[in-house]
Amino acid sequence: MNYVNCNKEDLEKEYAALVAEYEEVKGKGLKLNMARGKPGEDQLNLSRPLLDVINSSTDCITAHGADCRNYGELAGIDECKNFFAEIFDVDPSDVMVGGNSSLNMMFDTIAGFMTKPVVEGCKPWYEVKNRKFLCPAPGYDRHFAITEYFDFDLIPVPMTENGPDMDVVEKLVENDDSIKGIWCVPKYSNPLGITFSDETVKRFAALKPAAKDFRIMWDNAYCVHDVTDTPDELLSLMAECRKTGNVDLPIMFTSTSKITFPGSGVAAMAASDNNMKVIKNRYQYQVISYDKMNMLRHARFFGDLNGVKEHMKLHKAVLKPKFEIVLNALESQLKETGTADWTNPNGGYFVSVDVLEGTAKEVVRLCKEAGVVLTGAGATYPYGKDPKDSNIRIAPSFPPNDELKEAMDVFCICAKLAACAKILNK
Ligand code: PMP
Repeated sequence: MNYVNCNKEDLEKEYAALVAEYEEVKGKGLKLNMARGKPGEDQLNLSRPLLDVINSSTDCITAHGADCRNYGELAGIDECKNFFAEIFDVDPSDVMVGGNSSLNMMFDTIAGFMTKPVVEGCKPWYEVKNRKFLCPAPGYDRHFAITEYFDFDLIPVPMTENGPDMDVVEKLVENDDSIKGIWCVPKYSNPLGITFSDETVKRFAALKPAAKDFRIMWDNAYCVHDVTDTPDELLSLMAECRKTGNVDLPIMFTSTSKITFPGSGVAAMAASDNNMKVIKNRYQYQVISYDKMNMLRHARFFGDLNGVKEHMKLHKAVLKPKFEIVLNALESQLKETGTADWTNPNGGYFVSVDVLEGTAKEVVRLCKEAGVVLTGAGATYPYGKDPKDSNIRIAPSFPPNDELKEAMDVFCICAKLAACAKILNK
């Protein structure tokens, strides 16, 4: 039944039926969670053999003779640098392999530039009183939170199906030297699952920012995370920047959090020689060396990037049916109402749903009361404020399939109930 075109009487009947359905569901005492993009247990089990790679009789010497048990190799072991260099499309000497969290490296990068300029002669960012950061939205709440923490004004940029609206980005960045950077998840973006088009990547590489110290925070968290047999391809930003001479623009990040174990994986970053000089100089004060045993474990487990890609096929086999459950529920239960839109991504961790304008918060509330926890409405926008109160991020990976089905049924009932109530002014 299409809620937008139907008559009031029919919609009242539908509303009454939905209230009854909702009360019944509420009575079940469910406890389901689709809030964060955490791998499910099946996925975590895929990396169990990682734990056998190193034991008390394993040699812990890298191919180049470093003893991973000891201090040293501040930028990480060569084996790991090599495969991250392939992902980032840079020379291994421009890679820094860190600890267990790329988000931590992003935070540190911004924190570092706050007090020491990335470009000699520029002010450290704490001295730029009206500092701003561009936040393509919907986007990743934790990115926005980092720059909010450092008192940047967060400027939303609309997302299109090709990535951030580059007309808006160019206009802002090229005319305002208090804009110091932009957050990007270029492949299978969080939450839209969009991969930036070739043109978008080229336009990023060709930016002419007013601020000499403007940086693109290129978080390639989902670089190898396909969930369909028709994966997206992302153009290499660094290769494009070499063509335009803008190699200092991007600072790139990734991690194995959603390849092996979140919280116990290996994170890395890469940038131009100029940027890495500043960044590595800071790390020298911050840490003696990161966890090389974990780097070695990962490097030996995967061998090279091909090994990573083979492993990701196992994740795909687990995740694909989960995405199908979510999409089937939306298709079969919400489509005919004409009140919701959603993404159908080729990879990543999320399905992004736009429910009827003005109802997202209510849908999340109704779900919570019925025992289904979702990401907070608005979380995907700077300051947690979705101007349309419409976007909800669904994370299908964590619940087992039967629970996911149940959670999606609850979600669809709540989305329909909130839409009916809104249209009927209840
Ligand atoms: N970037 C994005 C886009 C993410 O979605 C996530 C985690 N969900 C992270 C970074 C966090 O990565 P890490 O575990 O390496 O800190």
